[in-house]
This record gives sequence, C-alpha cells and structure tokens, in this order.
Amino acid sequence: MRFIDPHLHTDMINDIILENLSMAGMEAAIVPSPHMLKGCGTSDTILRLWDRFLDFEVNSGKAMGYELFASLSIPFYGLDRKNIDACLKQLPEYLKHERVVAMGEIGLDCAIPEERELFRDHLQIAKEHNIPLIVHTPIRLAPQAPEVIKNIVEIIKEEKFPIEKVVLDHTGENTFDYRAETGAMVGLSVCHDKMPPEAAADCVINNADKRDKLIINCELAGGDMYFTVPRVALALRMKGMAHDDIERVVWDNPKNFFDLPVD
Ligand SMILES: [Zn+2]
Repeated sequence: MRFIDPHLHTDMINDIILENLSMAGMEAAIVPSPHMLKGCGTSDTILRLWDRFLDFEVNSGKAMGYELFASLSIPFYGLDRKNIDACLKQLPEYLKHERVVAMGEIGLDCAIPEERELFRDHLQIAKEHNIPLIVHTPIRLAPQAPEVIKNIVEIIKEEKFPIEKVVLDHTGENTFDYRAETGAMVGLSVCHDKMPPEAAADCVINNADKRDKLIINCELAGGDMYFTVPRVALALRMKGMAHDDIERVVWDNPKNFFDLPVD
C-alpha cells in the first residue's frame, strides 16, 4: 500500500531503513527540522541543515524512490538569542523554496520562557506566509503533556494563527480527545518513545468521524522497522479496515493537508 510519511527525520535515519520504507510503499515524506539540537550550535548550523534538506535529502530521496519535502524551523534548544534572530531573518526566504511545505517542528516541550518566545516568533512568520505547521508536543508519557498541550493551543489562538492549519503532533491516548476538539489535525507519531502502531490503529478505528483529521507519521522509525506507518496500515488491515479507508488516512490526509504535488 502506498503512503506518505509527513514527519520523518530522514537526516537521522540510515539508508537501509529509508530504502525499506520506500519498498514498503512510501512514495513521499516530509523532513522536519528537529525540535532540539544535541549540544549547542550557531545560525550556520541551522542554515546548513536547511540547505542539506533542500539539496542532499531531496535528491537522495529521489534516488531511493520517494519524493521528499521539507518543514523548516529553528530548534527550541541549542541556539542563543543572537543566533536565533539570525535564523529568523533568513527563514522567510527559505519558505519560498518549492520543496518547503510547512514550518516545524515548532511548539513547546517543557514550556520554559525561551521556548514560548520562539514559538510566538515562528507563529508570526507562519501567519504572514499562510503555511501549515507541524507542532511538537511533549511525548505521551511526559508528565507535563496535558498542561503544555493546552498552553500550545492558547498561544496559537493568542497569535491568531488558524488552528485548522496545525498538526498537533506526538499524540497520546490521554490527550487525543482534547486535541481532536480543537479543530487541529491530530498527529499520531509511531516512534519508539511515542505511540505503538497497534494503539495508533485503534485510534483510527475508534474515531471514524474524525478520520479526516488524523495524520500518521513515524518520526524516527526504529531499528527493527517496528515503529513505522506501514505497521499501522498493516494493523488496520488485520483489524478489518477496508483498503480505501486506510489509504484515505495514510495517503489522502497528508497529501491534502500539506498540498503535496504527488499523485
Ligand atoms: Zn520529530
């Protein structure tokens, strides 16, 4: 079955896994900027990363049989304010690139003041460019998750960004209903520290009326290929869902939401 992975850190995943995903039916993907840097960097670190997405990652995707698009933003941690400002100045120019389809991962994780300030900076630029957002939220078992997700939605509203252009990613079962009620897309990330594929499949099956608002992605996949979108599709098939209904979730939803030029 063909699928799109709309949140896949291709720059952090080895080629064998990427090729396996392609063979499993991945025809397109979106690589987001990470929400944090390990250690510290400068604006040059981030501009080089964005350039890497738009040249190397796009072309190596083609070499493995999938179309890659990019989502750009500045990590919450790892840059001082001077370097953040230098990136924010460059970001609008990068957003004009034909392969840039979203901004993110932006958002909050611990919700410290520096994160909040950068989140608002990103939202203001996104509003000017009317671009969809991939919003990082704390992982499902993080104790701060329920509170911080509410903070995120409040800030989006305060900045008057249209919530229907937002993916609230990394959903846990405990915050599914709240997210679904906001009008945002609900991102089910199947990744080693996030939702197992069978749990994501249950969310899809049990929420038939919200299925057009669900986005499934695998973030980092997994060394054993367990935490991937095709695992969710397989679980859905084994639980009896019709082929066309599965494809609507794993292909049509990301294609339509990010307006991807694939068919
Ligand atoms: Zn991610």
